[in-house]
Amino acid sequence: MENKKIMNSSSTQIIELNPELRNIGFADGVNINGVLTDEQKLEMIEKAAIKFGEFLDALGCDWKNDPNSMDTPKRVAKAYVNDLWSGRYNAFPKITTFPNHEYDGIIFEGNIPIISMCSHHHQTIMGKAHIAYIPQINQKIIGLSKLNRIVEHYARRGAIQENLTVRIHDAINKIVENNKGVAVMIEASHNCVQCRGVGHQGTSMKTSKLTGEFIESNKTRNEFYEFVKS
Ligand SMILES: [Zn+2]
Repeated sequence: MENKKIMNSSSTQIIELNPELRNIGFADGVNINGVLTDEQKLEMIEKAAIKFGEFLDALGCDWKNDPNSMDTPKRVAKAYVNDLWSGRYNAFPKITTFPNHEYDGIIFEGNIPIISMCSHHHQTIMGKAHIAYIPQINQKIIGLSKLNRIVEHYARRGAIQENLTVRIHDAINKIVENNKGVAVMIEASHNCVQCRGVGHQGTSMKTSKLTGEFIESNKTRNEFYEFVKS
């Protein structure tokens, strides 16, 4: 299966993951297969606001007569479409790559903010992602900020942390062709654990997906975790 389409434009590539892969493992239940136009987003906000008003009605909330709540359904719908789930409705980011002539060490970026939402409870997942990969000489490296863009794309939707970790890993693994390894670690706190159910504050969840030299070499794996700690 063709997983991505690459168009060359000097050093910038537009890489579009196969739409079939884009939503695998995520919050499924909203059947969106593609990018929405601004008009479609507005239409979605209008529809979602009406339903959220009904949701509040069902909870016995007299939101229509409360000045602080009367616009809340619209606000909530806008927040989902424009921010909280924006990764679901926008295209995969443009990825800039550069030729690599001599570097064969770890490229690491740490403390990338994770702002996401759990699919199970629609409560926030807040934390950090740590990403590393090892390029092949005479192949490509990714513009550093594009790692942040990839994280944003996948985090900004309903997700579970396990799948989020894998999707970020797999995207980098596909984009950096012939890489010698990719490592992604996420540590995040889940509001659904802290504010409901068991109500345990201060807990965090750690997940990792390592491949290539990060699995095969203890030295490389240790170096990655040293970078995470430092
Ligand atoms: Zn949850």
